[in-house]
Amino acid sequence: MGYLQNLNEAQRRAVEHGAEPLLIIAGAGSGKTNTLSHRVAHLLKQGADPRRILLMTFSRRAASELTRRVSRITESVMGQGYAAEALTWAGTFHGIGARLLRDLAPQIGLNPDFTIHDREDSADLMNLCRHEAGLSSTKTRFPAKGTCLAIYSRSVNSGTPLAEVLTDHFPWCAMWAAELKRLFGTYVVAKQAQNVLDYDDLLLAWAQVMADPGFAAHLGAMWDHVLIDEYQDTNMLQARILLALKPSGQGLTVVGDDAQSIYAFRAATVRNILDFPAAFSPPADVVTLDRNYRSTQPILAAANAVIARAPERFTKDLWSDRPSAEKPRLVNLPNETDQARFIADQVLANREGGMTLRQQAVLFRTSSHSGPLEVELTRRNIPFVKFGGLKFLDTAHVKDLLAVLRFAQNPRDRVAGFRMLQLLPGLGPGTAAKLLDRLTVPDPMAVLAQMDAPSKVTGWADLVAALQPTGWPDAIGRARLWYEPHLDRIHEDAEFRRADLLQLEQIASTYPTREKFLTDVTLDPPEATSAEAGVPLKDDDYLILSTIHSSKGQEWKAVFLLNAVDGCIPSDLGTGQSADIEEERRLLYVAMTHAKDQLTIGVPLRFYVTQQVKRGDRHLFAARTRFLTSDMLDLFDVTRWAPQATGQAATPAPGRVDVAAGLQEIWR
Ligand code: ATP
Ligand code: MG
Repeated sequence: MGYLQNLNEAQRRAVEHGAEPLLIIAGAGSGKTNTLSHRVAHLLKQGADPRRILLMTFSRRAASELTRRVSRITESVMGQGYAAEALTWAGTFHGIGARLLRDLAPQIGLNPDFTIHDREDSADLMNLCRHEAGLSSTKTRFPAKGTCLAIYSRSVNSGTPLAEVLTDHFPWCAMWAAELKRLFGTYVVAKQAQNVLDYDDLLLAWAQVMADPGFAAHLGAMWDHVLIDEYQDTNMLQARILLALKPSGQGLTVVGDDAQSIYAFRAATVRNILDFPAAFSPPADVVTLDRNYRSTQPILAAANAVIARAPERFTKDLWSDRPSAEKPRLVNLPNETDQARFIADQVLANREGGMTLRQQAVLFRTSSHSGPLEVELTRRNIPFVKFGGLKFLDTAHVKDLLAVLRFAQNPRDRVAGFRMLQLLPGLGPGTAAKLLDRLTVPDPMAVLAQMDAPSKVTGWADLVAALQPTGWPDAIGRARLWYEPHLDRIHEDAEFRRADLLQLEQIASTYPTREKFLTDVTLDPPEATSAEAGVPLKDDDYLILSTIHSSKGQEWKAVFLLNAVDGCIPSDLGTGQSADIEEERRLLYVAMTHAKDQLTIGVPLRFYVTQQVKRGDRHLFAARTRFLTSDMLDLFDVTRWAPQATGQAATPAPGRVDVAAGLQEIWR
């Protein structure tokens, strides 16, 4: 049993544990996923049928990481050529649920051709229902579609009455209780009429199936072993499903860490993991792990200090056998733009030192926080992949505003022109084309200045003209003001998008000219040659940018955390309830424990508040997050960084060029 020798005593005990119910509960990086993977391999080695093993976790990324690890270990245990695909029941709760429901559809009164709505589709359908019910937000300030869906989903997944969900988590929507109830009724009917299931339905319907003793027995008999990773992220429905599958707990193994519970907003409850042992009689065996194999000792010490302040906690402190002279860094920076520059510098320095980009990750609380960094990486030609949200520069509203600026710079730019004109209500593509045709002259500004009726009405020609003499960066502010009414008209979640635009304006203001700004934000790094950046990049090498939520269960040599300031972690989106604040503390802990060798935490002293900008744009002098108290500072290498005052290098002006003539030369 050579593979057992790689494990410590407690891990081995968990791997070799018999069929009795088992809980492995331990802190980050203690080898929980590793142990679970070995347990699967061990079961197979002992002759378990791979088709009778059910392996589940919460998020898709965690599921693919788990299956990757299980494949690797089963290959080494069962011998080369063992196809891990034989494990046919591995995936997310939602994925497995969908498959079962489709199989069982005829028996449970579902049309087997049902389609599944992801969160975005669900929000769109919710929106249609809102409109049909006459509850559109611009007039009435009724909650936006995403908020409606979050309320609905939380109520379904936690089995909590709507009124309670509103009071506890969405107090600002409580006045709409009656309308929301009506809306959700319409939403449910619409789903049925269209034969669609949303994510919540997958769990709800599965749980309903499990309530029938006949089905429960049938499904329970399909698997000899049921193993769950990241159990702290499951909600009430998932726990109910699991306990109905294996009421005696025989063959059931769950793994988790209460200190990493960060999905309460999706109704996950840490009670599931804490109550697990007592759900059986005799109670489930509990294995705890206390050695962290991932992080160096100084990184772990800092993470332990953060989580030690949590009022309620089950898992114990971890220890690490990996000494290092390098403490985690806490870097005070003038603002977010400098934070972005600093991190880009550090990422490249690590790269020079032999660490690939893929071994490094930048984590943040909310998808929109990475905007300045994305622009900086684009400018420096550093390839990156973003998890947990659209890339900032790819979002529709950012592209719209950039199109306005591009068009103002060059009214003959048809793509930008079309994008801008499409924003105008009632202006068809034919008219747009005609208007743009008139600008294909050497001096389009002169034509614009004399534009008549339709364009005057919509104001765009005036705007483009007005942007010309306007100094930079005032122009982007003016463009934004012009765009905002369109934004409100087009998008339900205009508030969040407006925050991004303010962020873009903030970034733009650090550029000396509009041209320089537009050039930098429109360069696409993967296409551009790496030589320009002075970094030899491998084709498939890229930096990971991720929300903390999407980074679950992963590890990187170097981790950078953005915006460790109050208002961000903890975010000011919460209701201020202590349960919500505690979840933010755990988020910080999760982020810190992803680092193996190097952890860098950025504290921008001037923080641009991009959330809840209803009160107008706000610059705050930010305070370091309350979770890093001054008595912890000894655990960090606290530094200050500010950019050196270097002027932006001027681009050398080429002589006269003519691409068409050049091409004729080539084709001659
Ligand atoms: P998380 O809480 O983030 O999900 P985890 O508890 O699941 O973490 P793993 O990801 O399984 O931890 O393991 C963390 C790291 O420690 C991995 O790189 C893994 O290979 C390594 N590791 C785990 N157990 C051992 C061991 N017994 N010996 C050596 N390395 C180990
Ligand atoms: Mg894990």
